[in-house]
Order: sequence, then C-alpha cells, then structure tokens
Amino acid sequence: MRIINGEVYDPTNSINGEVREICIDKGRIVASVSGGKTIDAAGMIVMPGGVDMHCHIAGPKVNTARKMRPEDHRLDPMPRTSTTRSGVGKTVPSTFATGYRYAAMGYTTAFDAAVPPMAARHAHEEFSDTPVVDKGFFVLMGNNEFIMQQIAAGEREKLRHYVAWLLHATKGYAVKLVNPGGVELWKFRGNAHTIDDEVTGFGVTPRQIIGSLAETSMDLHLPHAVHIHCNNLGIAGNWQATLDTMKALDGRRGHLAHVQFHSYGGRPGGLFTSRVPELAEYVNTHPNLTVDIGQVMFGETTSLTGDGPLAYMLHQIHGRKWANVDVENEEGCGIVPIEYKDKNYVHTTQWAIGLEWFLLARDPWRIALSTDHPNGASFAAYPQIIRLLMDREYRKEILKKVNPRAIAKTTLLEQDREYSLFEIAIITRAGPARLLGLNNKGHLGIGADADVTIYDKLEDKEKMFSSPRYVIKEGDVLVEEGHIRMESYGRTLFVSPPYDPAVEKDIREFFDKYYTIEFENYPVQDHYLPRHQEIRVNP
Ligand SMILES: [Zn+2]
Repeated sequence: MRIINGEVYDPTNSINGEVREICIDKGRIVASVSGGKTIDAAGMIVMPGGVDMHCHIAGPKVNTARKMRPEDHRLDPMPRTSTTRSGVGKTVPSTFATGYRYAAMGYTTAFDAAVPPMAARHAHEEFSDTPVVDKGFFVLMGNNEFIMQQIAAGEREKLRHYVAWLLHATKGYAVKLVNPGGVELWKFRGNAHTIDDEVTGFGVTPRQIIGSLAETSMDLHLPHAVHIHCNNLGIAGNWQATLDTMKALDGRRGHLAHVQFHSYGGRPGGLFTSRVPELAEYVNTHPNLTVDIGQVMFGETTSLTGDGPLAYMLHQIHGRKWANVDVENEEGCGIVPIEYKDKNYVHTTQWAIGLEWFLLARDPWRIALSTDHPNGASFAAYPQIIRLLMDREYRKEILKKVNPRAIAKTTLLEQDREYSLFEIAIITRAGPARLLGLNNKGHLGIGADADVTIYDKLEDKEKMFSSPRYVIKEGDVLVEEGHIRMESYGRTLFVSPPYDPAVEKDIREFFDKYYTIEFENYPVQDHYLPRHQEIRVNP
C-alpha cells in the first residue's frame, strides 16, 4: 500500500507536516513498494496510530463496574454489523465496544494501567476479546505482601527475581504502584497520608516501596519505568505527597500517572486549589520524570481504581452506590459512579488543573494525553481535549461557562498557549510509545508497525480527531469514515525479563502459607494469549 499526498506528522522522525509518501508492506513501514493499493491523502493529515498509555479496559475492577452499572450499558449500545460484534456501555464499555471505539477514533494501541496479578488470566481473556488494538497491562505491585517483606528484609536481589517472575507469570508489561502501602493499610481501616507512614505489620514506608520498585524496574531494564499512582489521590493538599514522591525517585526514572488528581493545594477536607505551577516546574527541570494527565471532563463517568480507600471516600462524598474488592495478599480496588459538574467548584478546579498541566509542561515528550479512562472521563473525550489545547478561542468560550471562582484561583486565564499538530502527535502517539519503550510504534519510520491514522484536515479539531477518514492497522484498512471494515484483534504485548528460578522456592512457600490459590495454578498459560508479542527487555 502507498499513502500519497498526505501531510505527515511523525515527530519521532522530525517530520512536521511535510507532504510525504508512506509505503507499507507485510504490516510494516518500508522505503518503497510496487503495486498494491494507493490511498490519495491530499488535503489530509497522516499520523501514526494513537497510543493510550493509561486507561482501564480490562480486569476485575472494570468488569465489576460493568456488572454494577446496567444503566451505563443502556446509554450507548452498539448493534452488530456484518463486520463487528455487538457491544454496550458508555463509560465502561464491553470488550468489543472498547476496541471498536478506540479504532474508530484512530487509536491502535492501549495499555490497561492496573491489573492485580491474581486476575491476570481474566484480563488476558478480556484482551483476547478486545478487537483491533494492540494492548498490554501494568501489574499492581505497590501493596504486594511478598514484595513488602523483601523490602523490609533488605533482600534486593530476591525482590528483583520476584518482580521478574511476577511479570513472567502474569504476562504483564510494567510495574504499577497504586497508593503504595496505603491500600494494605486500608485493609486495617487506615491509609497512607505521607510517603513516610509505616505500613502496619510490614515495617516499610511508601517511600521505600517507591524507591525499591523504581530501582528494580531499572535493574531489570524494563521498557517502561515504574508507573506510580501516588498516595492521597483526590485529597486537598496532596501536592506535597506528589512532590515528595518525585523527590524520592532521586533521579531514577519514574512515570507519575494521572498527575491532575495529585496536584491539589489546600488542607484535607478543605477547598482545593491548584499547585500545578510548582509541580510542573519540578517536572520541567527533572528529565527522569514523565507524567500522563488524567484530564477531567464534565459529565457522568465511573471512577474505578486500585485505590480502595479513595473509592470509599468518593462514595461518602457523593452517596452513590459503591463496590470494594480486596485481592488477597496483593491489592484492593473500588468502584463508584461520579458526575463532574461544570458549576461545581471542586470539579471545575480539577478540570482546570488538567489543562494547566498541559499548558505549563514544557516538554511534550514527557507528558501524555489521558483521562485515566474512565476516571476523569471516557477516552471518547480525547478529541474534545485536543480542541481545548489547539484552539484558544474555544477554550475561552468554555471558560466562561464553568465555575468562575474556581477558574480565578488557577493560572488558566493567563495561558495563551496553543498546541500545534506536531505537539498533538507527540502527546497522543510518539511520546506515549517512547515512554512505553515501544520502538515500533508511535512513528512512521522504516520498520515501524504500519499503524497509521489519516484525518481530514478540518478547522474544528474535535470533529477532525473524532472521526478519521482511514485507520490502518498492520497494513490493513480497518476503519473507513468511522466504520469498521474488517475483523481484527491486535496483539497482546508483554515482557518476560530473566530471573533466577531458585526464587520460586520462597514464592511457593509464601503461596502455601497465605494464598487460597496453588502456586502451580497461578501463572497464566500461553494459550490465554492467542495473539501476542514479547517486547524484549534491553540488554
Ligand atoms: Zn488509572
């Protein structure tokens, strides 16, 4: 296939809107090709397929949310067609609807940010039913009892072998921390409020968990850095714990997830203010740090999180139905429906804080667009967020409609910055692919996966990014003008770093003592990943 006459935005290869020919053969980008199909992309924008590095699309909390919210299914049904299965769900769509909607929006890769190891098999089953996109997940390790024991005992080597074994056993992609130590404390009616609170019964602190697992991720040469959901999410004054976490990384690579939810000034229980200027400046001057935003958008959504105490807090504030699911020895999670209102002071502050992050972060390569789907909003809101970033006049219009008292306390009215298409291409594909260590994604250089999105060049950027003209996945035109043209399932991406099998003796003992599941039954068998690709760890 050849794509001709299109304006190409490929930041990885420093291509900024030049008219270029893109050639595809056997699912990869090649230098030239003879014969085959030609797409004339005159008047169109050509970008690599979108990459979502932080969303929630599989695993127990997503599935619990689906079960808990039948009203959500009814909001947005997708009838079957000759090329697609049926699906339902607006904020927590079913597997099929999830894959089709990402694809129809030009996204070809998505990573679930939080799967407890014990539920890995189930997450893979859902992945194999999630069409079109390539996908992977991060493995929850921030409240894992075996890990906390090794940290407390100073067993650095054993910790490294265990983490490698756990990634191998779960076929996961990266190390994820959610409210490190705090979820374990919550099981005893507590929580971690600073990164120096001690986790009862383990003698470790969030600071030690963060440092040890950042170190371990680097020692194992994992393609993605330790991925951190900090302590105190959603609580006024939490910016201090966020800054402490950044400092605790002490130069080691670390990714701070949905940083919007962690940038609040004020006092716990009191009114929120924005502390983005201080935090963004810290990130700007520390190249070891990367973030995704977790933008809040107004409307109804579902909060689902590995942070059990957070969901309980939201349930207390909003009085809506709530589910809590603890995972033995490993994690917890909570789910609660939530509506973000544009007249509400707190919600407007959250919305504004996300935009401040986008506008104050200087290096687009180190921030990624996310809504923490569906926590801040559904991923379906990405096109509207892009318009807010690219179109200052539109942003000003919206600013007039939201809570003015909240906006006055942020720097948003002073921000005139507009993102270019080149920068949008960075924060939606090139950057996330680089942060994930996916060398063949997020760009259109020779050898890259032929995941390509072609948009009509429109003034209204929301419209433009909502419905690409063509979406090409591994060389096949899967989407044309919003319609899925053929069945395709994408691959599951995972890592399998080497470990010393001697560690299995200790893990087995731990299983015999504390797990309700046998050691032998724990690792995910290969046939749960019918279409997969191992991403090699760097030597
Ligand atoms: Zn998340």
